[in-house]
Amino acid sequence: MKPLEILRWMTLGLFAVTSLCAQSAPRASHVFIISFDQTSPENIDQAEMPLFKVMATEGAHTWEAYTIVPSLTLPSHTSMLTGVGVQKHQITWNEWETTKPKLAVPTIFRLAKKQGLTTAMIVSKSKFKTLEQPDSLDKFIIPQEFLSPGIAAAAADVIKELAPNLCFIHFGDPDFTGHQYGVRSPEKMKALATCDRALGVIRTAITAAGIADSSVIILTADHGGHDRTPEENAARAKQGLGPQLGTHGSAESADVIIPWIAWGKGVKPGFTITAPVIQYDTAATALWLLGVPVPENFWGRPVTSAFSD
Ligand SMILES: [Zn+2]
Ligand SMILES: [Zn+2]
Repeated sequence: MKPLEILRWMTLGLFAVTSLCAQSAPRASHVFIISFDQTSPENIDQAEMPLFKVMATEGAHTWEAYTIVPSLTLPSHTSMLTGVGVQKHQITWNEWETTKPKLAVPTIFRLAKKQGLTTAMIVSKSKFKTLEQPDSLDKFIIPQEFLSPGIAAAAADVIKELAPNLCFIHFGDPDFTGHQYGVRSPEKMKALATCDRALGVIRTAITAAGIADSSVIILTADHGGHDRTPEENAARAKQGLGPQLGTHGSAESADVIIPWIAWGKGVKPGFTITAPVIQYDTAATALWLLGVPVPENFWGRPVTSAFSD
């Protein structure tokens, strides 16, 4: 063997050892990330969401986590599920676009799949196809019934059939109603109450699958929202657009402050998270919990303070 070749093998060996060190024993066998679209901590406080509130009290919570800017559904969920900011993942648009470049960074589903874990996404918007990378998902479902009862039913089926190690569930209802009727409207409050019952269906499915004791559930949102002024709607009308009360996308507190709750295995009960939590930390936390190495180039860091040693 030439000296250069020996050096190459030594480097490879060293690399293998470091990669091995980065992989820790799993802290949970199942992680469920449940995202409530356009749901601020204030919304949670005002809506009839008994189960969400109990899980926040029983688990670890912060009512002051932050999403990225622009505080839009697709860029934000891409950060939540890739562990990097928008400047890195470059999903700057907010629709399912077939002509735009494909997502170039791996999703947490792809990283988990590489470690032989099972993965699933159940979502209510077609734009999530942006995150459907090859060899990453055992299930990718946009149900015909795309409101939260339909999402929960589809998720319950997946949990029963697959008991996925990593599962993302998305409720679009608060966003649909928030845009149409306003971000604090009675219609949105009703939608949030429906989402809370859907969360109950998912919890029941997790228990029925016998995996409740080995699961962590993360409850969060992609962004909050604010109401447009009448002047803004007048400007929309000039562009031929219909009135839309609620919106989001800015760096205003109403748009960027989101809830972040961890509940389940190893979570410190009744713990208030004081460390900063940013959208991409969800990705790092999920991998860390599952014992999947968190890539060095991740922007996100696991929210370790929420879990006991
Ligand atoms: Zn959204
Ligand atoms: Zn929206």
